[in-house]
Amino acid sequence: MHNMSQPSKLTEFDLIGRFFAHLTDSREDVLLGIGDDAALLDVPPGKRLAVSVDTLVAGVHFFPSVSPESLGHKSLAVNLSDLAAMGAEPAWATLALTLPEVDERWLKAFATGFGTLATQYGVQLIGGDTTRGPLSITVQVQGLVPAGLALRRDGARTGDQIYVTGCLGDAALFLKALKTDSAGGGGNESLRQRLERPQPRIEAGLALRGLATSAIDISDGLLADLGHILDASGVGATIELAEIPLSDQARALQAATVDWAPILTGGDDYELCFTAPQSKRAEIERISGTLGLHMTRIGVVEREAGLRAQLPDGSLWRSPKAGFNHFAPSPEGA
Ligand code: ADP
Ligand code: MG
Repeated sequence: MHNMSQPSKLTEFDLIGRFFAHLTDSREDVLLGIGDDAALLDVPPGKRLAVSVDTLVAGVHFFPSVSPESLGHKSLAVNLSDLAAMGAEPAWATLALTLPEVDERWLKAFATGFGTLATQYGVQLIGGDTTRGPLSITVQVQGLVPAGLALRRDGARTGDQIYVTGCLGDAALFLKALKTDSAGGGGNESLRQRLERPQPRIEAGLALRGLATSAIDISDGLLADLGHILDASGVGATIELAEIPLSDQARALQAATVDWAPILTGGDDYELCFTAPQSKRAEIERISGTLGLHMTRIGVVEREAGLRAQLPDGSLWRSPKAGFNHFAPSPEGA
């Protein structure tokens, strides 16, 4: 019916069939996937459905020059990161693509990035929408979590320890280097990977069920995201900047003096920040060892509202950005 020798004339229907209909493995709980008006899913009894959606807009959330394969990876990764932060097991995804044109090479690379990560976590692409317009990618994911075990933002309690996974600041430091260095981020490939190919901390989220009292993924920077936990939980905290885990590459970029702003306020690392009672410390260390993922204690939850970020010399870090101090009510009221 359609002339496949003229691939640039692909219809929307051809495009879906060619790039997305068979992209991911089939799950038994998908009763009806791509091809009907809606997907039909079998949600097991006793499980809760965790649902999250994120949009990436060209020029806003990514450079139009970024590799389409990385974009396919990241558009799913940022969503899986939200499921990780809920302690949910990824199950299904939908994909709404707005494309300026049908570029088959672009679509193939995008589908490869998306499909590889989906397969890694057993996620089936069950539907979507395809439209023409300025490049924009919306992914919705659905995951499963046993009733009562979801990791929420509102469970942090006074005395809980505050942890982060992995290292912080790589993505923001790479972006900063991109802006100040014509060599394109100092050619630092491992930092570029952190920005363009974030790894959702799914295994950590699952392992922290029943252990962590609260969790969030760090998409907007540690201070903002930990601030969400503190607000939702009605508590405050002090963190020690000397404890914040940095990669060797980040330390090298920082040279002699550490610029804390990108590390504390830059997002895009998609690590988890979570709280847990002191009594769970050994168990968290064991999980960290098993997963081969650092889980570093960086502070403690306190009754006093606000988030205090303590510098190695004991003084409090203040954002150089005027007016940006909503996370730390200053004693002078300034
Ligand atoms: P409708 O007009 O009923 O919304 P569409 O023609 O948009 O149907 O889509 C046909 C089928 O293809 C649906 O099952 C839809 O979920 C799926 N689909 C459309 N676009 C995508 C996409 N980008 N990725 C995955 N599935 C898609
Ligand atoms: Mg549609």
